[in-house]
Amino acid sequence: MGKALIIGCGGVAKVAIHKCCQNSEVFEEIMIASRTKSKCDELKEELEKKTKTIIHTAQVDADNVEELVKLIKLFQPDVVLNLALPYQDLSIMDACLETKTHYIDTANYEPLDTAKFEYKWQWEYKEKFKEAGIMALLGSGFDPGVTGVFSAYALKHEFDEINYIDILDCNGGDHGYPFATNFNPEINIREVSANGSYWQDGKWVETKPMEIKREYDFKGVGKKDMYLLHHEELESLAINIPGIKRIRFFMTFGQSYLTHLKCLENVGMTSIEPIEYEGMKIVPLQFLKAVLPDPASLGPRTVGKTNIGCIFRGKKDGKDKTYYLYNICDHQECYKEVGSQAISYTTGVPAMIGAMLVMNGTWSGKGVFNIEEFDPDPFMEALNKWGLPWEEDFNPVLVD
Ligand code: NDP
Repeated sequence: MGKALIIGCGGVAKVAIHKCCQNSEVFEEIMIASRTKSKCDELKEELEKKTKTIIHTAQVDADNVEELVKLIKLFQPDVVLNLALPYQDLSIMDACLETKTHYIDTANYEPLDTAKFEYKWQWEYKEKFKEAGIMALLGSGFDPGVTGVFSAYALKHEFDEINYIDILDCNGGDHGYPFATNFNPEINIREVSANGSYWQDGKWVETKPMEIKREYDFKGVGKKDMYLLHHEELESLAINIPGIKRIRFFMTFGQSYLTHLKCLENVGMTSIEPIEYEGMKIVPLQFLKAVLPDPASLGPRTVGKTNIGCIFRGKKDGKDKTYYLYNICDHQECYKEVGSQAISYTTGVPAMIGAMLVMNGTWSGKGVFNIEEFDPDPFMEALNKWGLPWEEDFNPVLVD
């Protein structure tokens, strides 16, 4: 069917690339382009024997629009799948605009020097993408991503009106390290050390980091403590789900993770303010990332399951209704299939699905879109087919 340019070759990208190679009918040709080309070449060598997809590799600095434009013009992909870091979103979108190529990502833009992620910057591209006749699909991971698709599906099939959404992200996996992050440590720590917030009655309610804690008994995992965080899909769902009164996001963390994080924070290691060290400027958080285990290396040692989903409350035919949609994913099963743990897997699979639906024209449009704006049915079907089957509960325990 077509060609995809995939930018980045980290934990998430590796899974998405494995999945594209399992789906050669759609992904006839891919180019893996990243900062460190040797990682792209290693993956190409591993996958080439197992797939009909033709794989190319390239070195690219995704902060450099000119370099990106050159590469896109050379390869002429149907879509660009951005699986680098949130800092690169805008430069990659600029290159897509210049070459009139569709754009897909899994995380919203975040400036390198301010730990603030929001859609504002990418939504400002709406008119420009419309005029260029191309589309940007924002947030095609799990959360954001599948959580938005779940919301659109619940609204389409189960409710006349959704009033409350609680997104619960549970990782019951154990990697055996006292402290490690399951995806890029810098992005992960910026996210969890920020203030929390949730959307209620048309406005944001802010909390201190980890201020709101609940316990929940997750199917497939068991009882876990979870904490309210700000999360990017809250921002778009607040706009795209009519009738919504409150949306919250909770993520589970173990005590060891939290104790280490507090200690690192207390000594200044999570700061993004550059400091002077022996004549060099270093950012403590970036240095911390360098000494922590690479999330891609957690695959072989992580056991247990993830359970991520949404609990909806609203009205159907004038009656109150609750509905829970979730996916359970097993770390070791993922490792056996694609050599990665479940956090990368649950993000990489939806990234491939989003790219597939744009490439084959199932989802089309001109402008910049969040995932819940499209018909959820083909995505839901693809989740079952490509490794993330979902389950339903019509009588779930609610979070108070
Ligand atoms: P990794 O750090 O493992 O991978 C990032 C990749 O991007 C690396 O290959 C890195 O290259 C490459 N890269 C970084 N900067 C540049 C640059 N300037 N030019 C070219 N390549 C660059 O991160 P993850 O795979 O864990 O995460 C990838 C993305 O997925 C992030 O944006 C993250 O926020 C998002 N994510 C989304 C989730 C969701 O559910 N929606 C969940 C988890 C993650 P190098 O190898 O040289 O370092």
